Amino acid sequence: MSTALLATLRSIVGPTHVITEGDMTAWEQDWRRRVRGKALAVVRPASTPEVAAVVKACAAAGTAIVPQGGNTGLALGSTPDASGTQIVLSLARMNAVRNVDTANLTMTVEAGCILQNLQEVARKAGLLFPLSLAAEGSCTIGGNLGTNAGGTQVVRYGNTRDLCLGLEVVTAQGEVWSGLQGLRKDNTGYDLRDLFIGSEGTLGVITAACMKLYPQPAATLTAWAAVPTMEQAAQLLGMAHQQLGAGLTGFEVMGQLALSLVGKHLPQLRVPFLGHKDAAWCVLLENSDSESEDHARSRFEALLQAALEVGCVTDAVVAENLTQAHQLWHIRESIPLAQAEEGLNIKHDISIPISRIPAFVAHADALLQSRIPGVRVVNFGHLGDGNLHYNVQAPTDCDAAAFLRDHEAQVNHIVYEAVAEFGGSFSAEHGIGQLKADALQRYQSPVALAMMRAIKNALDPQGILNPGRVLIP
Ligand code: FAD
Repeated sequence: MSTALLATLRSIVGPTHVITEGDMTAWEQDWRRRVRGKALAVVRPASTPEVAAVVKACAAAGTAIVPQGGNTGLALGSTPDASGTQIVLSLARMNAVRNVDTANLTMTVEAGCILQNLQEVARKAGLLFPLSLAAEGSCTIGGNLGTNAGGTQVVRYGNTRDLCLGLEVVTAQGEVWSGLQGLRKDNTGYDLRDLFIGSEGTLGVITAACMKLYPQPAATLTAWAAVPTMEQAAQLLGMAHQQLGAGLTGFEVMGQLALSLVGKHLPQLRVPFLGHKDAAWCVLLENSDSESEDHARSRFEALLQAALEVGCVTDAVVAENLTQAHQLWHIRESIPLAQAEEGLNIKHDISIPISRIPAFVAHADALLQSRIPGVRVVNFGHLGDGNLHYNVQAPTDCDAAAFLRDHEAQVNHIVYEAVAEFGGSFSAEHGIGQLKADALQRYQSPVALAMMRAIKNALDPQGILNPGRVLIP
């Protein structure tokens, strides 16, 4: 059966684009190297009709398909299982920009376009595509849509969902649905676009998207502020919203432990206020404005001055130029790498209503310490969006692998229960994939799960699209 299917797939995409041997690590292993799967084949179509024909052939053979973009996802959604029966459908060759419409402020792009390339396409057209995240050099817009990725500009521009006006999708039956008109208003029935965004390849294969563009800001200013407590970080966020309005484009928080790991493992980076006693937290703020740099700078500095006066900031530096701004962002984006250098750790990607974050952090920190003395919480994230990467590292005197083996389930339970108690979400950005499918069963309501299953069964009754991801069959 699989021999006949492989022959059909070769006839659709060409023999060199059906890969069954050689080093398949890039497609079979997840980004964090947690698991290694085994694919029946990696299939690399070059067009939407080819994707449709591949899906039709797989549906006829009853063969499962794992859609894949840059394979940078963090929830084990884009790698095949170990059975050797699943097809990895890589969209990487579908990387054309079909159209940039500067009057409509949109671009229509194929799913395999690398995010960084799309930022560049927008920049060349004199516009801004604001989606930005540390994996932008290798993740694709199809994967960003598949996971509804967030990133560093959500506080102003929203998640990938908010940036998308339309999709082209190949259904589980191999039909093509085209919804690429680029309309800002369209109330003709159910919103199919929003159904596919964030569905992690379980409802359809996204082949193209119409994405929103924005005017380039005239001035972008970046500051790094020392803040004594999480309450004061939240207070600073409130002040920034009040005084900067829509100019606030980034608000990241970093705990001293997270920054001390950057200082330890990446000593070439100069981390402001590292180890300062009144800087338990540092905040990275970004303001992007259509007004002149001088005007924007005086408003930005007035905010920081007001924050110093009320004591929610104890010290601050404002980047003098773009190079310094990039250096500050680079420190923030280096935290995951520094944490990986420190050893295996348990990652969480949670969101809590911003007003409840200080109480949540105090509660969860205390609970973890009481149950696992010496455990280290590496807490940082997109405070402006209420999203924390509340990661847990082994005590210093403990072997990291042994810690994970003995405590991962316990730590997840403590954190997820606390998140639920504070009205939050255990998966703010990275999605469910295989990694959190159990947690979804536990923390999503029965009514919501029943609706999700009904949607999955209606769109993919054979269950061939990314089985075992999001919903456990
Ligand atoms: P993949 O990893 O290939 O796939 C991800 C999921 O989408 C899978 O379920 C896959 O089946 C599905 N999928 C892929 N392509 C398609 C398609 N064409 N149609 C349907 N389904 C598809 N995420 C954030 O939200 N915010 C961050 O700030 C952030 N930072 C990151 C930093 C680093 C260093 C890394 C490694 C990851 C980060 N992520 C972040 C995770 C993020 O989800 C991915 O980087 C990105 O959105 C996934 O894109 P991808 O092309 O790599 O998708």
